[in-house]
Amino acid sequence: MKLTDKIAIITGAGRDGKGIGRSIARAMAAEGARVAVASRTEANALAVAQELRDEGYEALGLACDVADAASVDAMVKTVIEAWGRIDVLVNNAGITRDGLVLRMKEEDWDAVIDTNLKGTFLCCKAVLRVMVRQKSGRIINMSSVMGQMGAAGQVNYSAAKGAIITFTRSLAKEVASRGILVNAISPGFIETVMTQEVSEEVRQWYLQHIPQQRYGSPEEVARVAVFLASDDASYITGHVINVDGGLIMQTLI
Ligand code: NDP
Repeated sequence: MKLTDKIAIITGAGRDGKGIGRSIARAMAAEGARVAVASRTEANALAVAQELRDEGYEALGLACDVADAASVDAMVKTVIEAWGRIDVLVNNAGITRDGLVLRMKEEDWDAVIDTNLKGTFLCCKAVLRVMVRQKSGRIINMSSVMGQMGAAGQVNYSAAKGAIITFTRSLAKEVASRGILVNAISPGFIETVMTQEVSEEVRQWYLQHIPQQRYGSPEEVARVAVFLASDDASYITGHVINVDGGLIMQTLI
């Protein structure tokens, strides 16, 4: 057990399909953590938490809009009241609103930046108040290879995910001396509800360009999150781990 008695918050963990957040919550619970399953849609958060409790794990389901400071603060307060500390925060909540720049609505730009980037900032800020007092903690931010490669039709998403990388490095420098480690995971093409919306033509493009010649699974991302939250990663901070079957290499040649 790598996370015995650790308290972990995972945002965007309520997807009842095959979301990355849900897989991270499950993987951390299986390693002994008590997990706060936070999600925008309350029913989704409660359902995943119940599913985990049914399997004998300790889990709390919480509605939380990461783009709303009051909602984030309320979530953190509830976790502290329930369990008294926070050891791990996974900023996983994310959305896409794709479109070419000339056609992209301002509200689609704002929604993607607010959920992915501002949400990461708000959750870090709220949780850091606790972690700084504890003098320990792990923060794992969900970036994307699109934040490094860029993607036509995704300027909002790529900008948010790219910014999460420099956000991660900056925060890692700010809090390393307080015993808090901050890292990012940069997934490639992972089979979830988010990527089910992608056209068949784009899916085929990825298959041809991923050196491992297959899509990734949420569980493969979850295992890296467990590693970064565990003692095995005790001397790693400000790092970005690509979980992408080699996709990013195609842009580095
Ligand atoms: P899904 O669309 O399957 O799940 C996204 C989750 O985020 C849902 O649980 C959703 O909540 C939640 N969410 C959305 N908006 C908010 C909000 N404002 N506040 C709180 N929760 C919110 O996505 P994935 O599992 O595919 O992706 C998870 C993360 O990984 C995202 O950050 C994504 O950008 C990133 N990623 C995914 C890749 C992929 O190939 N799938 C590749 C690279 C990065 P609810 O269900 O309650 O509505």
